[in-house]
Amino acid sequence: MGLIKTAQEILEQGHDAVLRGDFASAADKFRSASQKFSKQGDMSMSQLASGYASIVRVSQRPSDSGLYYNAADTIRPLGNTPLKLGPREVTASYLAEELQLLGNEIDAVGLIPDQPERWAVRASSLQDLANRFRSNTAGDPLVMPELLQKQQILAETKAMQLQALSEEALAESLISRDPKAAAEHYQTARLWWAQAGRQDMAESAASRVSSYGKAVKCWFCGREVTGERIHFLTMPSDLTELVSRSSGDGALPSCVPSLREVYACKGCHSAVFKMADSRALQRTNELEVRVNAELSEIRRQIEQIKDVMRR
Ligand SMILES: [Zn+2]
Repeated sequence: MGLIKTAQEILEQGHDAVLRGDFASAADKFRSASQKFSKQGDMSMSQLASGYASIVRVSQRPSDSGLYYNAADTIRPLGNTPLKLGPREVTASYLAEELQLLGNEIDAVGLIPDQPERWAVRASSLQDLANRFRSNTAGDPLVMPELLQKQQILAETKAMQLQALSEEALAESLISRDPKAAAEHYQTARLWWAQAGRQDMAESAASRVSSYGKAVKCWFCGREVTGERIHFLTMPSDLTELVSRSSGDGALPSCVPSLREVYACKGCHSAVFKMADSRALQRTNELEVRVNAELSEIRRQIEQIKDVMRR
């Protein structure tokens, strides 16, 4: 074997680097194999090598959707050509579809809406994506997570996570007008998270179920409201046993059991806060006027002293 490697040998070195998990060097090898094949006029091998380069390049920034789309576009024309990626072998068109979906997932999950209507749009795009993961990939673990992170993730698991996120987005789209319905969607999300094996997310969804589904009576105005932290909040207070009992005999509580906090509907809560804010501002302005007057008096006295010393 001579010192100068053939294009095929460089391609093999790329595959070896993939097996070692050294994706940066694999990308280099695939790129130079592609150039070498191209110089020899072997365009189909050159295209294959550059396809491999685009796939391993995803490892540089695994949360950059652009790299996934780029890889998908590069390998899609290879059609049914088998690709060897570590221990797996899949067709180029199969992997192109997975790369496209993973790119779409990054974009759909990363976009956090700021308006209720947008939450509804997010919900339907996540649901759509969940369906595509189910229908467009076989029952095998996804190729890219297995290649890059040594993680076995089934398309079905991915679909369940997306469905959970979709239910949560639906809940957020409803919370401002129907907190009980929002709580129900978080309940469904909780079940999807649990099925997908994400106990942490299931627990956080469960805590939304109880806070969004919780109903109280406002201590101040007596309104009955549902949806903790959105439609009502707690405010620190000191109640006595007698005072707490005097709030009426309704089934809904108007204070916490420890009697250290009362419930306030959003209207009462914000009215109190806005008034406190404006009082604080007024007081600060008054203080500023007084302090400024005193400061100028002190300055005047200092000038006087300086005058005396200069004489
Ligand atoms: Zn109120």
